[in-house]
Amino acid sequence: MNAEHAARPATQPSITECTGCGVSFAEIDSDEEDEDEDEKTYPDEVCDDCGYITCESCACSHYRGSCYCQNSNFGTPYCTRAPAWYHGGRAGSYVGDRHPEEYVYEHPEAFETTPRQCGNCGEVKLCLKKEWLRG
Ligand SMILES: [Zn+2]
Ligand SMILES: [Zn+2]
Ligand SMILES: [Zn+2]
Repeated sequence: MNAEHAARPATQPSITECTGCGVSFAEIDSDEEDEDEDEKTYPDEVCDDCGYITCESCACSHYRGSCYCQNSNFGTPYCTRAPAWYHGGRAGSYVGDRHPEEYVYEHPEAFETTPRQCGNCGEVKLCLKKEWLRG
């Protein structure tokens, strides 16, 4: 069991079409109808914060897979992710603090020497130096 997933709110925003490409979604609760399942498109990712919804193909897209939130993507703060050019694709590039865990081992030289409060999530972390913030 994944506690984080279990804690997600049960209610979801009304879902009719993909925010990325506009494809209409099949109704999730139209159960038991033996229609051609392959023809249907279901929402893949939904951002509870801004309401952005993607189909499966958009969720994998660097152009359409970013939600409208400026500092997070589908609830995951950008500061915990390694820099990438497509972050904040909808609202502009995310330029705030970052402290991606995987970089600690790969690029320890990329981090500042003293932990401080992250400007995005508010946790005290070793943040990336400025020159490492561009993906
Ligand atoms: Zn789509
Ligand atoms: Zn969002
Ligand atoms: Zn943070």
